Amino acid sequence: MVKKKLVIGNWKMQGDFVSNAALLQALVARPSSDQTDVAVCVPYPYISQCQAILAGSSVGWGAQDVSVHRQGAFTGEVSAAMLREFACTYVLVGHSERRAYHGESDSLIVSKIIEACFAGITPVLCVGETAAQRESGQTQLVVGTQLQAALAQLQPEQLAHLVLAYEPVWAIGTGKTASNEQAQDVHAFLRQKVAQHDADLACKMNIIYGGSVNRDNAGALFSMPDIDGGLVGGASRKADDFLAICHA
Ligand code: PEP
Repeated sequence: MVKKKLVIGNWKMQGDFVSNAALLQALVARPSSDQTDVAVCVPYPYISQCQAILAGSSVGWGAQDVSVHRQGAFTGEVSAAMLREFACTYVLVGHSERRAYHGESDSLIVSKIIEACFAGITPVLCVGETAAQRESGQTQLVVGTQLQAALAQLQPEQLAHLVLAYEPVWAIGTGKTASNEQAQDVHAFLRQKVAQHDADLACKMNIIYGGSVNRDNAGALFSMPDIDGGLVGGASRKADDFLAICHA
């Protein structure tokens, strides 16, 4: 059986009602494909707009972060159960911008994955090295450590729902994409690491690439053997580009 590809748009902190509506309607109009699952992860206030426009379409929606807490006095936090009420199917966890600007640790990120799974939402765990870490030969150490935290602490049924996103920090929003070979090498390493834990899980797990994916490089990246799709930032805010990437 050929595995379906997965393409997720990360809008980051961008959007407004008018431009979102045009973008989402263009996604709805896309012919559905049995080869690719597509979703967008959007700022919290726009989740209900996604639900209103995307419900019944082949495009899913989700959030870019989730609280580690289930409920209570946690001002500013949004729980997984709240996301579920708006029919979110995906949530990003451990995006490098959250690791860098909010000091998110691997153990906090694993707690967020557990909350997402508890609510029946697919967590997308982002891992990736900085330019300095790559230059000093630490790529495998860094992404391996980030992944290991999840492998060590999650139950098999939680891991079964996990999507992994390899996002080299130096390639995010910079226009610098990892070469097909650089990305494939890290994806193969991550898959092998999952295989050491559970060989069947390694075959089934979606490992997607993120970092300046665009309509010109998506096809070649997604055709690498261990790249199961993409996490797309900047280009996901332009309907034509995002649709071309989904088609790739
Ligand atoms: C991202 O934010 O996850 C991302 C990959 O961004 P970009 O595509 O803009 O590099």
